[in-house]
Amino acid sequence: MDIIESSYILLDIVFLFVKYCSSTNIYNLYVYYGIISVISHVKDDYMDKLKTIKIEEIKGITKVMINHLHNHNIYTVSDLLFYFPYRYENYEVINLNRAENNEKVTVVGEVITEPVFYYYRANRSRLTFSVLINDLVIKVVAFNRDFLRNKIHKKMHVTITGKFEKAKGQIVAQKLTLKPLESDKIEAVYSLKNLHKTYFQNVIRKALDQYAHLIEDELPLPLIKKYRLIPSRDLFTFVHFPVNNEQIRQVMRRVKYEELLKFQLKMLYLKSREHKYLLKQPKSYDEKLVTKFIEKLPFQLTNDQIKVTNDILFDLKQNYQMNRIVQGDVGSGKTVVAIIALYANYLSKYQGCLMAPTEILAEQHLKSLKERFDNSDLVIEILTSSITGKTRLDILKRLENGEIDIIVGTHALISEGVNFNNLGLTIIDEQHRFGVNQRKVLLDKGKNCDALFLSATPIPRTLALTAFGDMDVSSIKEMPKGRKIVKTYLIKSRLEQRVVQFIDQIISEKQQVYIITPLIEESEKMDLENALDVYEKYKAYFKDKYQVGLLHGKMTNDEKEKVMKAFASNEINILVSTTVVEVGVNVLNATLMVIIDAHRFGLAQLHQLRGRVGRSDKQSFCILVSDYEQDKTKERLEILTKVNNGFEISEADLRLRGPGDFFGSRQSGLPEFKMADLVNDFAILEVARDDAEMLIKTNEIFTNPEYFALKYYLEQELIDNNELFN
Ligand code: ADP
Ligand code: MG
Repeated sequence: MDIIESSYILLDIVFLFVKYCSSTNIYNLYVYYGIISVISHVKDDYMDKLKTIKIEEIKGITKVMINHLHNHNIYTVSDLLFYFPYRYENYEVINLNRAENNEKVTVVGEVITEPVFYYYRANRSRLTFSVLINDLVIKVVAFNRDFLRNKIHKKMHVTITGKFEKAKGQIVAQKLTLKPLESDKIEAVYSLKNLHKTYFQNVIRKALDQYAHLIEDELPLPLIKKYRLIPSRDLFTFVHFPVNNEQIRQVMRRVKYEELLKFQLKMLYLKSREHKYLLKQPKSYDEKLVTKFIEKLPFQLTNDQIKVTNDILFDLKQNYQMNRIVQGDVGSGKTVVAIIALYANYLSKYQGCLMAPTEILAEQHLKSLKERFDNSDLVIEILTSSITGKTRLDILKRLENGEIDIIVGTHALISEGVNFNNLGLTIIDEQHRFGVNQRKVLLDKGKNCDALFLSATPIPRTLALTAFGDMDVSSIKEMPKGRKIVKTYLIKSRLEQRVVQFIDQIISEKQQVYIITPLIEESEKMDLENALDVYEKYKAYFKDKYQVGLLHGKMTNDEKEKVMKAFASNEINILVSTTVVEVGVNVLNATLMVIIDAHRFGLAQLHQLRGRVGRSDKQSFCILVSDYEQDKTKERLEILTKVNNGFEISEADLRLRGPGDFFGSRQSGLPEFKMADLVNDFAILEVARDDAEMLIKTNEIFTNPEYFALKYYLEQELIDNNELFN
């Protein structure tokens, strides 16, 4: 389940990048509007000369080495200098008293016993001796070092690098030098194919000797000064030949900042251009009517809802297309915001459309819309795949004629033959449930149409900055008043009898229960309880006392519909279901959710599921049942028992799993940085974002010669380099 969930998020990100590719966004703009004419002459002012010098020109470089370097895609001096080590071997001499068990250490010690050497297999040998390090006697074990057997003697000082096995008081040596290490030493480790590091570093030294004077800083001086970063000239020396940890720290600071700044510049630049060049007819409507509509709502909007509504209404009135995502927890009230937007769009005399991932949800939206537009003459229709034949044709015809004002639906909306008269606003609910192309197809049905995405899977702030870099992000963090926190517990399955009692109690108070299971069909391999089993089990528990219903993805829509209706009207007391209830379903009277095998779900998904209860002013509960085996799993699930805010949950999930896992794989479409890391370097990311924003907003990057290197960089990235578009 984690994987599925991550892949939704992954889709979001892929979507983002595919959007860049859609031709109108980038390329044509260059050609037709000549946007970057401002920067196109920069090339003359700034040129990274090292990029033009071939490695063949390095003095003393051999043919063999040139071939080697070509194998590593190194063609120019710039390529060479930027071929960074992927990590450092740290030989800083360490105080053993402070070392952890199994930590890799480098120590200097005096040999106090003659070594013992023997072969334990034909070609496998073992060498042991003891050393005195400060006041500690440590045994040193070295494998297959035949050549050292006669060279180690008492009283010698040796340097040992290896794994410190604290309990055994021994170090398994990976590296053994027959002299004390004079100063701390750090070695760069490169990823090299059939090429020895020493030779590789020799070429780098040669190149630095010969061309150091040509190194120019891509990072503008004002920024280098502002953050006291090291200049490029030092960077290359420090990165390839660091002599202490401080230099590495300096390298990291500089490289991370530069990477994140450039990335943010790209994103912001694209965004600012989109605003300027994806033009549309601004929408205009009677604002008083919208205000009146909001006043007539049966509840008061929360502050966040008001803020987000204003963001959207502002966008509608602009002359560029809205491209906004509203992130908000389950139950935070995104629908009403969407409805207000649809109303303003309608008043501007455009058609609107609202697409949801399931029929149940689409129907719920239809109901909400009809309720809100009770006494008006708005024409609202629904289109799903269950609507066929004449009804469908009729809807399609009226949609194309402009007789329908708002259409709600599922994927059916993106099928062929669905044409609008003048689509002005597209809203996609639970947007992560749709594929990249599906979303795009819908957006393309209206020319110059505004786009609004709703997401109940809050992406951590760190990633929102990056993943939605080109979209405007609005967040609803505040829940409507009166909502109680869903009390959440984590239990093992042997306590199930207690759960049964609890269910009994809840239903005796006239409330209802969800039981969620992860899979539909029995799978021996995974040993999961499936919905059918659970259904039978609970039916047996409660016999004729309570009604138990079953809902799963293999049922037909009619069947699902029937069950949901029965649950909504409390004819069914307990609904056993797979995750099909995950999105949207709104049964206020349900106050307990039991989730079986909770560890099979991702945190964000569990949180979404949990959002099906706690939708009224009654106290609600969620019981996570899991026979987890690892502490890590427990830790993860326990987050849900402590935290109720989706934003915080996804941050925690991200922290625990790391961005790689969070997104499923390295090919997630997330940018790959040499050194920066989106989780741990968030502080730098924020600073870089602010700087990038300033540079773009003030236009300084295009006008101030001090920034021309960055301007040139942007130009290269956006024109020559297809990285962003592929
Ligand atoms: P979601 O953000 O998960 O889509 P919904 O839009 O379905 O949430 O809203 C959940 C419930 O909260 C709905 O019944 C809705 O009518 C109600 N609601 C929305 N906004 C408010 C508010 N400001 N005050 C009280 N109830 C609200
Ligand atoms: Mg919703």
